[in-house]
Amino acid sequence: MIDNYGRNINYMRISVTELCNLRCRYCMPEEGIQKRGHEEMMTAEETIDAAKAAVSLGINKIRITGGEPLVKRGIVRLCREIAQINGIEELCMTTNGTLLRTYAKELKGAGVNRVNISLDTLNTEKYKDITRMGNLQEALDGIEASFEAGFDKVKINVVLMGGFNDDEISAFVALTMDRPLEVRFIELMPIGGGIDFDKARFVSCQEVLAKAPQLESLNMSDGVAGMYRLPGAKGRVGLIRPISCEFCHGCNKIRLTADGMLKPCLHSDDEISIKGSTQDEMVEIIRKAILDKPKMRNQLDADNPSRAGRDMNRIGG
Ligand code: SAM
Ligand code: SF4
Repeated sequence: MIDNYGRNINYMRISVTELCNLRCRYCMPEEGIQKRGHEEMMTAEETIDAAKAAVSLGINKIRITGGEPLVKRGIVRLCREIAQINGIEELCMTTNGTLLRTYAKELKGAGVNRVNISLDTLNTEKYKDITRMGNLQEALDGIEASFEAGFDKVKINVVLMGGFNDDEISAFVALTMDRPLEVRFIELMPIGGGIDFDKARFVSCQEVLAKAPQLESLNMSDGVAGMYRLPGAKGRVGLIRPISCEFCHGCNKIRLTADGMLKPCLHSDDEISIKGSTQDEMVEIIRKAILDKPKMRNQLDADNPSRAGRDMNRIGG
């Protein structure tokens, strides 16, 4: 569906849970979050209805996210049902990867086309520190399990943090040499737990090009990522610059939170409830959310944090 500013809105991110088995410092509070009652959250049936309603309006790409989507009970069945909706061209998942050893094959069988795995460091101690509890080996196993399950375009999301992983840029870029991996560097956003974190840690994607000058621009983008490649490499490198390069004019997304709120824009606290509605009502609510999508986000930097009004684990990235 075309919005009021001529953008074709064809992509919906659906967060299926606020809960997570990690506590990344820039995303979630250390104590985790209070588990809410089932009656406050979308049921699987409501989520499927919302996906069908969105598809009827021209959404053809859906990304399942969270919290951590793989801690959600019934996640494989939910993916299967969404993948079967007539009109879905791409069903993807963003995950921290730690449970993919268990789920990768089932997800592939259920019709998930691609997985994006979040991994901010290749160092065991640093991984434990940034996630406050995680085991690097589980995430690395998850990447291997994804290849073994037959996912051919595995993407790794790396949030750039100064003084934390800017010394690993070359190592991440090197991963793309021999395997068809796409490593995507993402600028840290001042949102949720990232607000305090951001002030000291922000590093622009320009730093990737400075640290890996061999990267050649492919003069194309893959979604919001500008694409690069090492000469002769099997994989690619993507740079996602939500801060240093505003991309609202090309935004094609809406978001649905696990508690049933539609967010027309990531950085606005404008939310419209869809929970408890019939599928027909959802069609009208989603249509309105698309038409309400703002032209541009507000100024976004360490002094002007996002007005999203939620931590990232309660939005879905
Ligand atoms: N748990 C899953 C994961 O980590 O991939 C899915 C949810 S997570 C909220 C989705 C993405 O948002 C992750 O790639 C994470 O690194 C990113 N993210 C969270 N907080 C962020 C922030 N303040 N700035 C930039 N990216 C952030
Ligand atoms: Fe969990 Fe993902 Fe947030 Fe890390 S980034 S705390 S894995 S939801």
